[in-house]
Amino acid sequence: MFMTNEATRRILLVEDEKAIRDAVTAYLERENYWVTAVGDGQVALDEFEKHHFDLVILDLMLPHVTGEQVCRVIRDNSDVPIIMLTAKGEVEDRIIGLELGADDYLIKPFSPRELVARARALLRRVHADSEPQREVLDFGGLIIDVSGHKVLVNGEEIDLTASEFKLLTTLSRYPGRVYSRMELVEKVLGYDFEGYERTIDSHVKNLRAKIGDNPRHPRWLHTVHGVGYRFEDPTSANTSN
Ligand code: CA
Repeated sequence: MFMTNEATRRILLVEDEKAIRDAVTAYLERENYWVTAVGDGQVALDEFEKHHFDLVILDLMLPHVTGEQVCRVIRDNSDVPIIMLTAKGEVEDRIIGLELGADDYLIKPFSPRELVARARALLRRVHADSEPQREVLDFGGLIIDVSGHKVLVNGEEIDLTASEFKLLTTLSRYPGRVYSRMELVEKVLGYDFEGYERTIDSHVKNLRAKIGDNPRHPRWLHTVHGVGYRFEDPTSANTSN
């Protein structure tokens, strides 16, 4: 691990449309990010193997090696934050992106300014999570080592994306408290644009699958219909249902 400050954060941008690639690169560089911009999925994977990146911005529709394949390979090797770029109206694509482990997505056409805001929020959040503080939460079969950025289910460490980890720590810090989807969007994704509640649902779905929580009979992650979610501590006598 080496420390980087905001001025030297390194971003891998994968976008085959030159106009978008150039515009986004210009915006990011103006914010002092170090940008490696490529237009091809295979080149992206080669770059990712060679260098350390703090964030990946990935277009889903790429020729040859698709964004989906790139995302899959990166996720197999790394929990680097990923923002997916998807075409307008392709709802399925957005869901696919999140299921593949992307942390966030933007629908084209988007403003480079909004992308920069999302990138900054995501980087800030990941950085805040890695600040040293000793905190281990124990919920029976589920242990969350907040400082070590580790989650163990029945003694086995599981891999969570940055968003899933943030979602889990946010909910589990206050067992029994109900969080609306909008609140979770703000706390987990770090911004307050409307219309991204669906993103939270996808993250919850992925998180449940990873920690082995059955949505019909949850141990930890409970759905509060029409509102959002709450975390319950099954080891606590005060747990109400
Ligand atoms: Ca494209």
